[in-house]
Amino acid sequence: MPPKPPSAADLLHLHGQSLSKGDPISPDLTMASMFHLPGLPGGEHFYGRAGTPTWDVLESALSHLEGAPTLVFPSGMGAISAALFSVLKSGDRILLPSDGYYATRRLAEGPLASLGVATDLRPTTGFAEGRFDGYRLVFIETPSNPGLDLCDIAEIAGQVRAAGGISVVDNTTMTCFGQRPLDLGADILVAADTKAPGGHSDLLMGHLSTRDDALLDAARTWRTLSGGIPGPFEAWLLHRSLETLEVRFDRMCTTAGHLSERLAEHPAVSQIRYPGLPSDPGHALATRQMSRFGFMIGLWLETEEKAEAFINDCPLLRPATSFGGVHSSAERRARWGDDVPAAFVRLSVGCEPLEELWSALEAALG
Ligand SMILES: *Cc1c(COP(=O)(O)O)cnc(C)c1O
Repeated sequence: MPPKPPSAADLLHLHGQSLSKGDPISPDLTMASMFHLPGLPGGEHFYGRAGTPTWDVLESALSHLEGAPTLVFPSGMGAISAALFSVLKSGDRILLPSDGYYATRRLAEGPLASLGVATDLRPTTGFAEGRFDGYRLVFIETPSNPGLDLCDIAEIAGQVRAAGGISVVDNTTMTCFGQRPLDLGADILVAADTKAPGGHSDLLMGHLSTRDDALLDAARTWRTLSGGIPGPFEAWLLHRSLETLEVRFDRMCTTAGHLSERLAEHPAVSQIRYPGLPSDPGHALATRQMSRFGFMIGLWLETEEKAEAFINDCPLLRPATSFGGVHSSAERRARWGDDVPAAFVRLSVGCEPLEELWSALEAALG
């Protein structure tokens, strides 16, 4: 059985528990950079780069959702950078998925390499099978973006810990409602809230969660001193989005499940990846590790031209990079150089009603 998702009901009443009579029900947006601070500082807010009341509301919502203390960042890469730069030092070696989100790899192979951190790459499929000795940090992404391959978080986190390293899981593709990396034994969770948690394609944000006090302190210090901080308005907007995440994610995953079965039967689709399909190579692991099968589907169409026509001509698909919006979107990842076939389409299923969406997709495939 996968670890239990967080309580969506408690999330909706979390902020309300702290209110006094006459307080607004929705959280205040505090835009201040300076705070009233006579005398000696005593742990209250003092300067906006170190902390603001609007982050506090968001971080307590995310801490509830992740079941762990959480820090917010101005993007998913901001959270990933904090995890890497606050842990690593010159001479360290790290392991990354060869088929995961490209920017994490480029960060390691560029800026981290020039600071003396060496990186090895390993495919997500079979990630658990190699050894983990000698790695200060092991970075896991499952299902991987864009290929939707899976690896066993509990198995890898256990092996990495036994070898003396730190495991970091990028949980962007699943969110807290679909997969619980910290409950599976990972040391640090990072996620891009730009995707489904924001959900409306109007916001970049990210977060880092960990139950290890020393790792949390190091990431907080990195955030304060690097200055990579989110603005209060983005924090307020993400808090608003989180209140509907469970509803949106539920709809998106349910629709993706139905669509995957229909697409698998469609003659224009030569191959399909969706962890919820019993025929998918990741299905058995997905059933053990994930509480939902996600909202992303990988499709192989016949040719690059047919893939482009499908993406661009379907009125209910936004041809766009990124994913997790209320509107369905799709793109050919090969156009960015990802190691996937030219006719591979990454489909992000949104909140459109199933039958309307299916009619549009079916028409565009034909
Ligand atoms: C988008 C994404 C990121 C980066 O998030 P940004 O908010 O764009 O910085 C990191 N990891 C994965 C898996 C992503 O899909």
